[in-house]
Amino acid sequence: MNEFLLSLLSSSTVSGFEENGCELFENYLKQYVDEHHRDIVGNSIVTLNNQENCDSILIEAHIDEIGFQVLYIGEDGGIYLRANGGVDMHCIPGSQVEIHGKEGTVSGIIGKTPIHLLTNNERDKIIELSNLWVDTGLDVEDVKKKVRVGDVVSFKSNIEFLGEHRITSKALDDKVGVFIVAEVIRYLSNYREHLNCKVAGAATVQEETGCRGVQTSCFSIMPDIAISIDVDFATDVPGCPKNKYGDVSLGKGVVVSYCLDSDISMADEMISIAEEKGIPFQLSARPQATGGTNASRTRFMGSGIRTILLGIPCRYMHTPVEMCDLRDVEAAIRLIVEYIKKLSDTQNIAGVYHRNYQQLT
Ligand SMILES: [Zn+2]
Repeated sequence: MNEFLLSLLSSSTVSGFEENGCELFENYLKQYVDEHHRDIVGNSIVTLNNQENCDSILIEAHIDEIGFQVLYIGEDGGIYLRANGGVDMHCIPGSQVEIHGKEGTVSGIIGKTPIHLLTNNERDKIIELSNLWVDTGLDVEDVKKKVRVGDVVSFKSNIEFLGEHRITSKALDDKVGVFIVAEVIRYLSNYREHLNCKVAGAATVQEETGCRGVQTSCFSIMPDIAISIDVDFATDVPGCPKNKYGDVSLGKGVVVSYCLDSDISMADEMISIAEEKGIPFQLSARPQATGGTNASRTRFMGSGIRTILLGIPCRYMHTPVEMCDLRDVEAAIRLIVEYIKKLSDTQNIAGVYHRNYQQLT
C-alpha cells in the first residue's frame, strides 16, 4: 500500500490545524513540482508548468478532518471538548483519541455512563458533546500540566483493510481526495513539457468548518478550470433509500456530479472521456446544489470558474470508521489525468496513469 496514503491517514489534521498533513503532501510532491508553498491560512499549493500567460487548472481536495479542541478541564481531570466540523455524536462514546498538547501527545478515551445505570428515558436521549469527556487515566494535576484549553484532539489512527479492495479509517473524508490530487500531479510531472497549461494541486484547509480554505487557494491561482474531489455518500447500505439519495455504490467507479456546483458541460466532457477510456464512473444528481463541498465556493469565485465536483463513494461518513473502495480512487486518478491530457492535446501521457491500484506501492 502506498506509504504516503498511509501516513496521511495516520496524521492528525483537525480543521484549523492541518500543518502535519500539509507537510506530508509537500514532502511527497516537492521533487516532482516546479514550486510549492503554503498560503497564509495554511493551504498547501504545488504547481507544474508554472508559466504566466497560459490556462491554468486547479485540482483540489480538503486535507482537514473532523475533530475537537479542548474547551474545559474539570476539577476531576475530565476533559470537555468543542467539535471542529460535523462530528457524528452517536459514534463518539467509546472512541480512542489523542490530545496534541504543547509537551506531547496524551492518549485518552471518550467514556460514558454504563448503559445499565441509565434510565429508559436517558437511553433514548440524543448524546450531547457537553455531557461527554475525555478520560486520560491521569491524575488531575498531571492533566493540567499536560493539557491546555485550545489543544487539538483527534481520533486515533485506525486504518484497516477489509476484503480485497476496501479500506476503512478515520478521515478518508477527504484524505483519499488529497491522495488523488497528489497522484495526478506526480504522473503529470513526467510529462510537463507536453502540458500547455499550468496545473496546480492544492490540499485545502478548513472545509469541515464551512469550506473556508479553498477560497484563498482559488484566489491565488484564479484557475480557468477547477476540479474538486471529495467523498460522496454511498447508498449501498441499509437506511439510504435510492429513491431519495440516488444510486451510488462502493467499487463502481468515480462519481461525476450533476449538481449545481458542477459545470454541466464539464460533467459531460468527463463522462465522454470515461466512456472512451473505459474508466468506471457513476452519476449523481442530488436534487440541489450541495453547498457542503468546496466546489460550491470554487464555482462562484471571482467572475466564476468552470468547476467539476468528483466524488469517491464513502460509507459511514463523519464516523471514525469511514469506508471507501480503492478501485474508485484509481478511477478518479485515471479520469483526471485523461481529462488534463485531452485539454493539453498531448500525445505522450498515455500509459502512465493506466495502472492497477495494487501498484500504488
Ligand atoms: Zn469532505
